[in-house]
Amino acid sequence: MQHFPIFLDTRGKRIVLSGGGEAALAKLRLLTKSEARLEVFAADPHDDLRRLAAEGRIALTERALAEGDLRGAVLFYAADEDADEDARTAAIAEAEGALVNIVDNLADSRFITPAIVDRDPVTVAIGTEGAAPVLARAIKRELEERLPPVLGLLARVGKAFRPMAEKLPFGRARREFWADYYFENGPRAVEAQGADGAQAALDGLLEKHLSRAARPGHVDFVGAGPGDAELLTLKARAALDKADVVIHDRLISGEILELARREALMVEAGKTGFGPSTRQDDINALIVEHARGGAHVVRLKSGDPTVFGRLDEEIEAVEAAGVDWRIVPGITAASAAIAGLGQSQTRRGRNSQVRFLTGHDTKGFADHDWRALARPGEVAAIYMGKRAARFLQGRLLMHGADPATPVSFVENASRPDQRIVAARLADMARVLDDAALTGPVLTFYGIAPRKAAAMAGDYEQEMAL
Ligand code: SAH
Repeated sequence: MQHFPIFLDTRGKRIVLSGGGEAALAKLRLLTKSEARLEVFAADPHDDLRRLAAEGRIALTERALAEGDLRGAVLFYAADEDADEDARTAAIAEAEGALVNIVDNLADSRFITPAIVDRDPVTVAIGTEGAAPVLARAIKRELEERLPPVLGLLARVGKAFRPMAEKLPFGRARREFWADYYFENGPRAVEAQGADGAQAALDGLLEKHLSRAARPGHVDFVGAGPGDAELLTLKARAALDKADVVIHDRLISGEILELARREALMVEAGKTGFGPSTRQDDINALIVEHARGGAHVVRLKSGDPTVFGRLDEEIEAVEAAGVDWRIVPGITAASAAIAGLGQSQTRRGRNSQVRFLTGHDTKGFADHDWRALARPGEVAAIYMGKRAARFLQGRLLMHGADPATPVSFVENASRPDQRIVAARLADMARVLDDAALTGPVLTFYGIAPRKAAAMAGDYEQEMAL
């Protein structure tokens, strides 16, 4: 950072400018926003300069700048658009102790004037060390769109309100109050009622946020189902509709997230089997922090929250914080997958129990009662089983399972891109590799897709034994 940004107090200070043309006027357009005493030296000034002088906004001296003119000045702009004249005036300014800016001459300038987004008293200064004026302009434009023009007015009214806002507990409650004021309610109120609206908005918002902060928070652990939004329960929808904050897994589809209350804060607490993920402790802390601030938190988990979702750890954290909670069950991936296969999880004479297994746990591939599973007719829904396919296959064969036992993979169960891949125990790992499935996969051990599902044509069949 060659140029270090600072905000200079210009009240009553002398800022001097040499030049009477367009460059001088352009600089003055910015400088007249300051509270400095502006003095311009120009032998032949533009009419607009004379007008500014007549309005009392600048002091105009109609001659070239000379030695002694800059004593006591803090900043000097050389804006004669003439390299020799600029060098001459800059030398005087240097000698008399003013910081110098030469228009369009970065190398010889002691300071530069940044691009500015003016929402006085909020000022955003953008600098690129002269490297990319185009970029500075683009950023300025973007910020101008993002920061409502009334922000300055809101900030002035808001400043006086700071002591009142201290009634709110420090931290999130107060942050949310101000965010609401500056970006939601404040701009709306000013648009409707002008400056008076800002004050009214503050009073109303304080009440709203005080009552929210006083209210104890609540956490709903909600099952989002396997992906199809129509498989959400009505209770899940109602919870999403009331949520202040939704903390969701990465697996949750956009279609479902759309159903959350428009004002809700959406936070992704990503968890994937292997890739980058948010630490469980951080997720717990996040839930607790929001709930403690009085928010209605929806912790949205894929499928059913009670199935391989580390739900107990989250409940324990919430309970330890003394926050009220409940579970809203969802349709687990196994239910959606078996529906896709057109089969039933249990069947008289075949299996009277179904196991829900995980392919891996925190220590690696998970061990199970392989001997029991290897018996004919056993059925298991295997979650997170993609990477463990070869391991599972090996263990089951080793414990005497029939190599012809059907195994079905259902990728993206219930979603428009659902895919079904059928295999046998003997070739399940190879078939899975060949299918190169990239979405979440539920593996059904002991179940083949029913013919009717096969006729639907939305799956690949590989039965080569
Ligand atoms: N609580 C979730 C499971 C979380 S573990 C539930 O009840 O469904 C994540 C695993 O669930 C994935 O690795 C995958 O095996 C399975 N899964 C989740 N959604 C799925 C979907 N739409 N299709 C297939 N498998 C899915």
